Amino acid sequence: MKIVVLDGYTLNPGDLTWERLEKLGDLTVYDRTPADKILERIGDAEIVYTNKTPLTRETFEKAPNIKWVGLLATGYNVVDVDAAKEKGIPVANIPTYGTAAVAQFAFALLLEMCHHVWAHNEAVKKGEWTNCPDFCFWNYPLIELAGKTMGIIGFGRIGQATAKIAQAVGMKVLAYDEYQNKALESDTLKYVELDELLAKSDVISLHCPLFESTKGIINKNTIAKMKDGAMIINTSRGPLIVEEDLAEALNSGKIAGAAVDVVSTEPIKMDNPLLKAKNCIITPHIAWAPKESRERLMNIAVDNLEAFLAGNPVNVVNK
Ligand code: NAD
Repeated sequence: MKIVVLDGYTLNPGDLTWERLEKLGDLTVYDRTPADKILERIGDAEIVYTNKTPLTRETFEKAPNIKWVGLLATGYNVVDVDAAKEKGIPVANIPTYGTAAVAQFAFALLLEMCHHVWAHNEAVKKGEWTNCPDFCFWNYPLIELAGKTMGIIGFGRIGQATAKIAQAVGMKVLAYDEYQNKALESDTLKYVELDELLAKSDVISLHCPLFESTKGIINKNTIAKMKDGAMIINTSRGPLIVEEDLAEALNSGKIAGAAVDVVSTEPIKMDNPLLKAKNCIITPHIAWAPKESRERLMNIAVDNLEAFLAGNPVNVVNK
């Protein structure tokens, strides 16, 4: 059985092993696959793994040997799952693997906005402390989170994990979600409507998926409803934010700081307005990527194939 991984590099840049997958068949792993090489590389393989390489209707029509497709990610918008279904090909994703890592990263971004750890470290190395007349100095306002309010938009797995960290540092949490699980409410956690969350939060963290209903949920109208000086974190999906509107709000000072791990087009384009906006931290979509999370992802990807081969397919998104 031939197994092809079309774009394995971001999952395993060399610090993990494909050993388990090698034991299941004749495995070829490509770091990345350009569009004009997809069909050639799939060839007569029966098993195809993809992370971000698109598998279109045409791919399924021209690669008749494919029996099963495995995503190396949660999102499966790169695969035409209906076309696969018509051919009887199950497509399996990784429903969850990095909840703790993404929540931790949302907080890393928030703590950086509150303390500017790296900028202060650099200032010290440049001699600013040595030349300081006082025993200490700070170049940015420093912010204590205890007693402040975090608004979490999208209160699923990652939103809830982020809330636990927020509560641990003494924050109150306001949650907005289409589905409310009132059992999660407590003295420090309450579900509210979106407008109330916008009006009362000192920090707003986005954890809802990208749907038509959530696209552009942070825009000039919703920003206008926020507290002056609010901070925004996005570790979910770039298009949740209208970037021009956020850049304008950062530059005017309406929003005191933003930190985003995801942007509208990835990799980021050099004309993205957030690149030049004031007080904006941008990281290259790394919240998911600690080795522990990638290892978990790799194991689930192989478990998915083993389950299919055993006749009990799991995590199939096109049933
Ligand atoms: P989840 O499905 O557990 O939670 C999403 C929540 O959003 C659900 O509770 C859902 O009811 C809610 N929701 C859906 N539509 C909504 C709407 N219109 N308004 C408000 N809430 C709505 O997903 P999760 O595991 O918590 O992941 C959340 C998101 O994080 C993913 O969709 C993905 O985009 C993102 N993510 C990013 C990274 C990264 O590396 N930056 C890694 C993993 C996931």
